[in-house]
Amino acid sequence: MTLAALIDDLVSANHILYNEGVVDGFGHVSVRHPERADRYFLARSIAPAVVKREDIMEFDLESDAIERGPRPYLERFIHGEIYRARRDVHAVVHSHSPSVIPFSVTGTRLQPIFHLGGFLGAGAPIFEIREAGGPETDMLIRTPDLGVALASTLGSAAYALMRGHGSVAVGVSLKQAVFRAIYAEVNARLQANASRLGEITFLNAAEAANAAATNDQMVDRPWELWKKRVSGS
Ligand SMILES: [Zn+2]
Repeated sequence: MTLAALIDDLVSANHILYNEGVVDGFGHVSVRHPERADRYFLARSIAPAVVKREDIMEFDLESDAIERGPRPYLERFIHGEIYRARRDVHAVVHSHSPSVIPFSVTGTRLQPIFHLGGFLGAGAPIFEIREAGGPETDMLIRTPDLGVALASTLGSAAYALMRGHGSVAVGVSLKQAVFRAIYAEVNARLQANASRLGEITFLNAAEAANAAATNDQMVDRPWELWKKRVSGS
């Protein structure tokens, strides 16, 4: 894929995540530079739904902009520090998608309730900002140190919750990270609904891993649908 095509996909990812109810005025998605592992692309501080090619900025892993430009997102350290910690990760979505938030504050673990949530594995880890930032933060990942702490909680997982704030989804590609961000939100909705009906049988470890491996081969299909919805064609 050419760099221009990748940037086009990044713009599409912004629009898709808005259209599917994962981001609103807030939240962001980035992609690692395909030729320079120590750089990534992320929009300037702007609502995802209105991102255009010219809004995309390039950053190093300190999350400093390569060229002086417009104001970047305060929470860009989420992206830089995850790319530094996880060589396998090539895309990151940070959002405040609403259905997952209750699972960050109640002690009820977000777990794979259906095959499309298989990437949740044994359950999403939860980042507690008080452990790294003390009791008086504004909840935002606004420093490199907080980004390092979040990446540490994420560990080798595909998805992590941030207590009282939101989540991060990572992937080997933009399509995989977007898939995970969208289906984590769906999984959370289903899990909350099912919990009102009775005790839930979750996917076991083997089912979750096998389902995730199968889904990883199919990320193109929903991406084409989601893209069609935002392009209107
Ligand atoms: Zn945030």
